[in-house]
Amino acid sequence: HAEVAALRTSLGIRVSGFDAPKPVQTFEQCGLDGALMGVIKKAGYQKPTPIQAQAIPAALAGRDILGIAKTGSGKTAAFVLPMLVHIMDQPELEKGEGPIGIIVAPTRELSEQIHKETRRFSKPYNLRICAAFGGLSKYDQFKDLKAGAEVAVCTPGRMIDLIKMKACTCKRVTYLVFDEADRMFDMGFEPQVRSIMGQVRPDRQTLLFSATLPNKVDRLVQDALTSPVRVTVGEIG
Ligand code: ADP
Ligand code: MG
Repeated sequence: HAEVAALRTSLGIRVSGFDAPKPVQTFEQCGLDGALMGVIKKAGYQKPTPIQAQAIPAALAGRDILGIAKTGSGKTAAFVLPMLVHIMDQPELEKGEGPIGIIVAPTRELSEQIHKETRRFSKPYNLRICAAFGGLSKYDQFKDLKAGAEVAVCTPGRMIDLIKMKACTCKRVTYLVFDEADRMFDMGFEPQVRSIMGQVRPDRQTLLFSATLPNKVDRLVQDALTSPVRVTVGEIG
């Protein structure tokens, strides 16, 4: 235990939550397959950032996660890598089913960035990573989702629109990510966020990231996460 505490101190993270796993010091310790190790290497990532060091092993263990970390801390890989492992463990999609993973971010720019990164990391697996945010044709997105995609990267408003248009259901979703939750709430997306949550089976894995933890976001965490591992990077939160 002293060893784990020292490791966390050296990473500058604070962790709480029942039985949180030990942080990793290297990507090799995560037990990822050769394909993912290849894309990590290709991305030029030498070792995990502090949020990745704690969140990746916890997410791989199937835990819900509350990550309090600001921009630039490497959150994307922290939720995308375990998501890909999760998806590869699920039964394949039947025709027209999907998605299995949904990633929700507040703005088009942020979801675009996550969409790109997710495509990059998922390349060896040939997964269908669908975009569901503004600035692109809603009709094309409808078709992509309807055809079946393992992952949807979205903004809350566009995702709700597409669900209402019956582009997809949330029946197969077992991995749900909310990124920059405080910003989503600042932008007034709490109803859409809660609506998406309400459509996904309660025994899903849920990961929520936020730079700060205002009361509203904390209430959502209470409502939507089950026995989460809470990771705070640095002095914020
Ligand atoms: P956040 O979402 O927390 O703002 P990102 O996931 O966008 O952070 O990562 C910020 C930058 O750091 C990106 O350019 C990303 O490619 C890079 N990065 C992420 N993880 C690592 C790592 N382990 N080693 C080196 N660079 C990394
Ligand atoms: Mg980000």
